[in-house]
Amino acid sequence: MSSSSTVPAELDAVVVGAGFSGLYMLYRLRELGMSARVFEAGDDVGGTWYWNRYPGARCDVESMHYSFSFDPELEQEWEWTEKYPSQPEILAYIRHVAERHDLRHDVVLSTRVTAAHFDEGSRRWTVRTDRGHVVSARYCVLAVGCLSVPKAPEVPGLENFRGSWYHTSQWPEDDVDFSGQRVAVIGTGSSGIQAIPILAERAAELTVFQRTANFCLPTFNGPIDREMVAEIKATYPEVREAGRNSGFGIAIEAPTRSALEVSEDERLRTYEERWNRGNLTGVLQAYTDLLTDQAANDTAADFVRDRIRETVTDPATAEKLLPRGHAFGTKRPCLGTGYYETFNRDDVHLVDLRETPLVEITERGLRTSEREYEFDSIVLATGFDAMTGAFLAIDIRGRDGLTLREKWSQGPVGYLGLGVAGFPNLFTITGPGSPSVLSNMIVSIEQHVDWIAGLLSHLDANGLSTVEASEAAEKEWGEHVRECGEATLYPKTDSWYMGANVPGKPRVFMAYIGGVGVYREKCREVAGNGYEGFVLQGSVAG
Ligand code: FAD
Ligand code: NAP
Repeated sequence: MSSSSTVPAELDAVVVGAGFSGLYMLYRLRELGMSARVFEAGDDVGGTWYWNRYPGARCDVESMHYSFSFDPELEQEWEWTEKYPSQPEILAYIRHVAERHDLRHDVVLSTRVTAAHFDEGSRRWTVRTDRGHVVSARYCVLAVGCLSVPKAPEVPGLENFRGSWYHTSQWPEDDVDFSGQRVAVIGTGSSGIQAIPILAERAAELTVFQRTANFCLPTFNGPIDREMVAEIKATYPEVREAGRNSGFGIAIEAPTRSALEVSEDERLRTYEERWNRGNLTGVLQAYTDLLTDQAANDTAADFVRDRIRETVTDPATAEKLLPRGHAFGTKRPCLGTGYYETFNRDDVHLVDLRETPLVEITERGLRTSEREYEFDSIVLATGFDAMTGAFLAIDIRGRDGLTLREKWSQGPVGYLGLGVAGFPNLFTITGPGSPSVLSNMIVSIEQHVDWIAGLLSHLDANGLSTVEASEAAEKEWGEHVRECGEATLYPKTDSWYMGANVPGKPRVFMAYIGGVGVYREKCREVAGNGYEGFVLQGSVAG
């Protein structure tokens, strides 16, 4: 893929990552008249949608909402083909955005940023890459993604396996031919749940290694409803604005009643109707207390468990697939197409790792505490070092040589998930402490980028050189994020939201659950009050 190879030694801004966040940041920086380059480790733009090319990869926010709103003409012109867009369709969309706005010119592909050090004298960042670039920049924007560092399965022996293995998030560009093969999948999160039905069709035999059974709702995906498209396009600005002010980033009617104050019949009717909508929020947003009260949550969890029992014909297999031990929604819920039905196939087997834990990967396959299984290929759908992994993979040093790794050693801290005290002029798009992964992420990305662009323009207009979150504001915001999280059932569950999927990672609920609209208002207020909570300093050096 073509991209600029010349990188000036001095820039106004370096952006790390060329997914939705980095590309939109570049667009805004250009509007501000700033010189910028985006460094991207991948061989093309697209971020998540470049890397996650596994069979079945698809967004589970509806197409009409999972797209940029900043280009009203594009919004009208672009034609999505399905209710939920597939990975190739989203990648085509991002590539189109990059070309339409001539963004590739300033994107440096196949280049990983390894270090970013702040120099107090010049008040600039020195950014280094694995291809030898050394760039001095006034601003450093980390658009590195919440789910961009793959997590290995922590089971010894992968290097001994004689067959082929693939991580869902590093899938080969040329699709893999599994025909005639015995294939294993480890992991039943969103990626595994999407891949398993397709792999079952392609392989001779598929064995799924499940550690934690997950709640999976049906997508009822299909060709996009053209009438709905016309309606949304006719009122897109209003639809987008309503999304921006909502809880999740897509306007839905807010629940008004507790699950426990209605009759069982009514509850079941409500869940059934919402199940049939085939979306992420339907069932979970049916009542006010599904994510805060265990007894309320149990009613929805029981409803989903009953659907699984109805779908899976072998009762013993159904029993293994029933999610237990965590509240519905407190691990990221999954949307799937034909997921549970897949286990009715004779050529699909389920191994419950709670009964027989995985012990090692062998030359020939996988060994559990019970026996060895032989495979031609292993698919690792084992997830990510989420939310902090990509930030901490870079050697980032702020004032007084303070490293981000030290600063975040007990868990990530920052103000609004946008900036970190001690790290001036460094911005974290969808950083920990912002709604990020608890939202339609495009809405959150646009909000962060627009807010950062507003701040940079304010600095320039006032001849200021640095902006930095204050320790006090950071502490207060961190407390607020924690309290909001603790008012819910999320912290009780071992999930990647809590860092619990990565051994040794501090256990902290990392996202802000106050809602996209509430958060947006807070950011607006902060800006309106002269960027309250940030320290703005000095005249521009040099
Ligand atoms: P990313 O798309 O992750 O891009 C970050 C980029 O930064 C990557 O390309 C990476 O290579 C690059 N990078 C990182 N570190 C460095 C470095 N040191 N040097 C150079 N480059 C670097 N969100 C939703 O809202 N709805 C969904 O349905 C949904 N589905 C998803 C499905 C999958 C399979 C995954 C993995 C995530 C999904 N997400 C979804 C979340 C998704 O990540 C965001 O919606 C969005 O694409 C994030 O864009 P981004 O630009 O912030 O990050
Ligand atoms: P994930 O949700 O973290 O799931 C990883 C799976 O691998 C879990 O089932 C986990 O089990 C299992 N696992 C991990 N290590 C293991 C080990 N050592 N032994 C056995 N099993 C192991 O990761 P993901 O499925 O890639 O999804 C991550 C996030 O990306 C999602 O939550 C979502 O936000 C996003 N995503 C979205 C979509 C979509 O539909 N739009 C698709 C894919 C991804 P445990 O649960 O027991 O840890």
